[in-house]
Amino acid sequence: MTIRPDAAVLGAGDVANGFGRMLPYCRGPMAKTEKRLTKRQRKELYGKGPSGTPKSSGSGHIHCVACGRHIDPGEFTRAVPSAAWLTCQHGSRFASCTTCTIETQARLDEHDRTGQPPRVTPAWH
Ligand SMILES: [Zn+2]
Ligand SMILES: [Zn+2]
Ligand SMILES: [Zn+2]
Repeated sequence: MTIRPDAAVLGAGDVANGFGRMLPYCRGPMAKTEKRLTKRQRKELYGKGPSGTPKSSGSGHIHCVACGRHIDPGEFTRAVPSAAWLTCQHGSRFASCTTCTIETQARLDEHDRTGQPPRVTPAWH
């Protein structure tokens, strides 16, 4: 007797094993953890942003119209401000050192008189 009755059982077992093999195959690899990381990175990106920086005409930097000095946004709100916003007759805001307001105002007056853009001293740091 070479044929053993167990053979049929083994065959059935093979089919069951076949299904069994499919289960771990269906499980995804590490995709879930990767997705988590990108979500985190997105959150970090969205979390970042400019906070409370006043709008300056043009560039993100603020410079004195009269002397071109770089003005830190905090200089406008200090107990003793070292910078101030001047407004021309059209309502445009121009930054100026508090020590330059007379010169800055003169340039804005000239701009309002002539309709030409105000003479702005090139920025320096
Ligand atoms: Zn100045
Ligand atoms: Zn600057
Ligand atoms: Zn103006």
